[in-house]
Amino acid sequence: MKRRTGQDPSITRNWRPATQAVRGGTVRSEFGETSEALFLTSGYAYDCAGDAAARFAGEQAGMTYSRLQNPTVEMLEHRIALLEGAEACRTMASGMAAMTAALLSQLSAGDHLVGGRAAFGSCRWLTDTLLPKFGIETTIVDARDAQAFVDASKPNTKVWFFETPANPTMDVVDLRTVCGLARDRGITTVVDNAFATPALQRPMDYGADVTAYSATKMMDGQGRVLAGAVCGTEEFITNTLLPFTRNTGPTLSAFNAWVVLKGLETLDLRIRRQSESALKVARFLETRVPQVLFPGLPSHPQHDLAMSQMAMAGCIFAIRLDGGRIQAHALLDALNLIDISNNIGDSRSLMTHPSSTTHSGVAEDKRIEMGVTEGMLRLNVGLEDPDDLIEDLDQALKVAGL
Ligand SMILES: *Cc1c(COP(=O)(O)O)cnc(C)c1O
Repeated sequence: MKRRTGQDPSITRNWRPATQAVRGGTVRSEFGETSEALFLTSGYAYDCAGDAAARFAGEQAGMTYSRLQNPTVEMLEHRIALLEGAEACRTMASGMAAMTAALLSQLSAGDHLVGGRAAFGSCRWLTDTLLPKFGIETTIVDARDAQAFVDASKPNTKVWFFETPANPTMDVVDLRTVCGLARDRGITTVVDNAFATPALQRPMDYGADVTAYSATKMMDGQGRVLAGAVCGTEEFITNTLLPFTRNTGPTLSAFNAWVVLKGLETLDLRIRRQSESALKVARFLETRVPQVLFPGLPSHPQHDLAMSQMAMAGCIFAIRLDGGRIQAHALLDALNLIDISNNIGDSRSLMTHPSSTTHSGVAEDKRIEMGVTEGMLRLNVGLEDPDDLIEDLDQALKVAGL
């Protein structure tokens, strides 16, 4: 009898995303467990000294040390690669470890990077502070304007780095146009796809070279563990990313990888339900606040573009109030159900004031330039009944004078 412990890639590659999310990358041990096994081990033993030598020489398949390989971590990496439509994926200890590795592994002193203006606060710290410190020049552009990337590029430009939709202003980047312009110039695109996840948007289908994730967000999806991932060609992962990560060690723990594997099983269900609820909540807020920034709404200036490259608009959006920080904080303090929390991609609804939290580390002039105003609030819509969320927002808006 054939023991079905592994999977035949010629069959599994063709499975659809919802199937990949449950089964992609699974490798069974000799016990035939149905759920993925959690291998909490830092090292591996060899049958003989010659095997150890052969494995270190790369002449024998197998694992040597969990900074480099771990069976549970590899299952997650295969699953994310299959969902992404990427040749290869490596996971990291957090989203920021993934962004840092994706950039530092391929850039050297004297190189130039063009980055999107609207970005996660720590991503802006990478482009504004860390890279220049090592002699890597950076130029920041409004990523909604594809031509701006071209205009900012020079002979030594190696990378265009951006997120879409972007945190927290919900700017949308035209993936097909920007990635096409980069390809023509031999420039590598690195796309932070944390908000959409491969369930809603696959940047590589539009020509992106590298995608990077905070898997802490929708992939875990239940606010439990930190995790990150980088996807790209086998060539990029093996020859560029791996020498960096194997030696610097931003390794994802096996336990966290296992939690994210469990999270991915329900990614498709969760993100579709949360996106639907977000649209309902956004429509309500549109009747009550001066501005709702959500690409899912026809009122968003980039609605058509967003819907042409995303299956749904996701569960995160922002609003702008006229009353500045005082009114924004008053609204947060009046919430009964929605938590005041700066996390996103959680099954719980969470709301934060970016300018005093996630983006407080970005210089004030840069914050204003990127549209993170004092009256802005960001909302992550979770899996609760959207009518309960609307009722909670309704009463909090009244307390805040809206
Ligand atoms: C959260 C986030 C990150 C950072 O991820 P961590 O897992 O918190 O390190 C990077 N980019 C975006 C868009 C994010 O939302």
